Amino acid sequence: MIALEQDAILSRAGDDIQYVIFPHSGAISLMIEMADGHTVATAAIGREGAVGTLSVLGPSPSAITAVVRAAGTAARIPASRFHTVFGRSPAIRSAVQSHIRAMLIQFQLGAACNALHPVQARMARWLLQLSDRVDHDVLPLTQQALSQILGVRRTTVTLLMRNLRARGGIRSDRRGLIEIDRTRLARAACECHRVMRLEAEEVFPATSDRSRAAVLPEDGVLSLE
Ligand SMILES: [Zn+2]
Repeated sequence: MIALEQDAILSRAGDDIQYVIFPHSGAISLMIEMADGHTVATAAIGREGAVGTLSVLGPSPSAITAVVRAAGTAARIPASRFHTVFGRSPAIRSAVQSHIRAMLIQFQLGAACNALHPVQARMARWLLQLSDRVDHDVLPLTQQALSQILGVRRTTVTLLMRNLRARGGIRSDRRGLIEIDRTRLARAACECHRVMRLEAEEVFPATSDRSRAAVLPEDGVLSLE
């Protein structure tokens, strides 16, 4: 078991994937960084998923940087061991393939959302996605973190926060803690949050716990079935 510290970088783009990380709690965003330093988030991962699973598709450096957005705990398994188990166990292969399918859906919808939907609706979507993964309505997000996630300036984030507060979607925003009102925030979000959630639930029935259990038993030891 490892601690997922707030704002920790779990893997960097360009590095070989050393570990596959299975969060028990907390939330992680996958980030793309452009050559000029601009960043945007491409997916959110919590206990329904894992970081580093795409490495089973072949030995290539990570394309993304994984950043902890809400602290938690996780199990961590060397990628080489994970690949061995993936090759041997049909049950684990099936669960990982479901997870990768859910990730690809999130990447595709996210690409469409980034191109087609207003940034305020995207910010509402991201707050909801992260809140889904931590199971509460207070998120430890600074304006800088939101600026990195959305790919906009901090001044834009300030403006968006003000607008969402006026609409009741954000109840308060103090010292890097954002308290949301889920119902009102959902009204301000684009359809993508709902669609991503439905797609994830379709891939992982019963909020993914059963699929997840097939991969990672509660004691955190990867088993061969
Ligand atoms: Zn959208």
